[in-house]
Amino acid sequence: MVLEDWHTHNEMCHHAVGSIEEYLRQAIKNQLRTIGISDHFPYEFLKNIERIPYQEYAITIPEIEDYLLIAENLKEKYKQIINVRIGFEVDYFKNQEYALNNHLNKIKNRLDYILGSIHILNFRDGRGAWGFDDSRFRRDFEFYGSQNVYINYFKKLQKMINSEDFDFDIVGHFDLPKKFNDRPNNEEQVLDEIMKTLELIKAKELTVEINTSGLRKPCKEQYPSENIIKEMYLLDIPILLGSDAHKPKEIAWKFKKITKILKKIGYNQFVHFNKRKKTFIEI
Ligand SMILES: [Zn+2]
Ligand SMILES: [Zn+2]
Repeated sequence: MVLEDWHTHNEMCHHAVGSIEEYLRQAIKNQLRTIGISDHFPYEFLKNIERIPYQEYAITIPEIEDYLLIAENLKEKYKQIINVRIGFEVDYFKNQEYALNNHLNKIKNRLDYILGSIHILNFRDGRGAWGFDDSRFRRDFEFYGSQNVYINYFKKLQKMINSEDFDFDIVGHFDLPKKFNDRPNNEEQVLDEIMKTLELIKAKELTVEINTSGLRKPCKEQYPSENIIKEMYLLDIPILLGSDAHKPKEIAWKFKKITKILKKIGYNQFVHFNKRKKTFIEI
């Protein structure tokens, strides 16, 4: 079984532990063919993030160069043993693509892939931007209510996919609002938004990450759920695996178990990225 982990963090984002090299060594121990380095892209250039403790959410702009140099050196050092691919997990903020691209465009030619993710919502006439997957914002989650959070999230995901100016390859942790096991009151309405989102992903030829970190969280299942993966399979949406490791030990988390489930659904290929080009590997 050829396995690759495309979603990993490290101490540079200020909330994960371990150096990039420690994650890489763990990946070698787990006999992975590839490790994707995908730490959180900076936030400090964004507007309206007063409530977000963004210093603890991501690397900072001055650290971008260090991050890339460390990853590039490790790629060379370990090239006989494991593929190292270099990326970023980038948060989508509506109408702030220009500020993002000012920073991202300078280094984009050094990246193998970009994960597009949403961790922050900002309701109209609400309390201001908040991190719905951050336990420190649980009061906001309760204030808006689970149904609104789900709908707002998927609508924002659709905007991310439709944005002409948000350049990315992989949709990260597709159904993240379930993290703390909050379920929507009206499942049907949410399913409707999920299907709209999947159609857009298909049209834009994007890849969806099967993220196993949910198995370590109160929801106790991967992102996305098995039912959503089945819909993705019917739409022929390509996939790859991500552990979202924030500790070296979390590398390739439950990858064998999840791959069995994916094969049962019908998947027999994973996507591989190199310099933003997509190829396929047989599972
Ligand atoms: Zn993180
Ligand atoms: Zn994430």
